[in-house]
Amino acid sequence: MPTHSMTAAAAAGASLLIIYLAIRRRRRLSSSFLPTQSFGAKHEGLLRDARLDKLLVITDFDATLTTGDSTQCHDLVGFSDLLAAQFREGFAPLLDWQTNPLTDGAHALMVKYGQPPRSLIPRMVRQSSMVPRPGALKLLHRLALLNVPVLIVSAGLSDVIEEFLRQHDALTENITVCSNRLNYGADLAPQSVAPDPPITSFTKASAYRAAGSFFKHHAARRSLLVLGDSITDIDAATEVPYDHLISATAKYAESYDALVLGDHGSPA
Ligand SMILES: [Mg+2]
Repeated sequence: MPTHSMTAAAAAGASLLIIYLAIRRRRRLSSSFLPTQSFGAKHEGLLRDARLDKLLVITDFDATLTTGDSTQCHDLVGFSDLLAAQFREGFAPLLDWQTNPLTDGAHALMVKYGQPPRSLIPRMVRQSSMVPRPGALKLLHRLALLNVPVLIVSAGLSDVIEEFLRQHDALTENITVCSNRLNYGADLAPQSVAPDPPITSFTKASAYRAAGSFFKHHAARRSLLVLGDSITDIDAATEVPYDHLISATAKYAESYDALVLGDHGSPA
């Protein structure tokens, strides 16, 4: 084949590859909203007497505000090479949440080794593979502009969540993080973790008590939007009094009113 034909073929091939990658990236970043059976009536009821000053949002953090394949809070601590090797060795076996859902042991280890020091958390978060779910920051920004209170209920770590939001200019005054919070000594090493017992994916209903002053302050807001990626994320609203409740998730159609599918690491 003459040289100029080979060059043209290579250029055409490269163009096709670029187009293919662009389409693939677009598909990866796009998501679809699928109402389940319960959505229609609930949505209609909400719209009938919807008022912005009645709206309150409760959301999970890991794999909800972040993508499905993001590094999660405790993984970030357990695998960060910024932290002491001896601590990580002890922490790693505790990261299998399927067999070890309680965070007590993990938190005790953090206190024992004084890890992570407060000063390292910004770098740990910056260097991690923790990525906002497409649309999540836009949603938080919109809720901040509209003064809608947002309660993030997470079995992760408040310190990591707040740092992540801060680095994405999303730590606004309307957001309250209800998660496991490290209490630091004067030397910036964790000395205890609150609340006790910790918030796990199986105790999210305790958010109503753990975030008591938040709910007291916003008692008049009785239209709830609940977001999560796990079957138990909806539990965070179990004890909250409401007139309307609409929930959305990436899976579990039987428990939520709508599915949002197609972002990284979530079902397509
Ligand atoms: Mg989650």
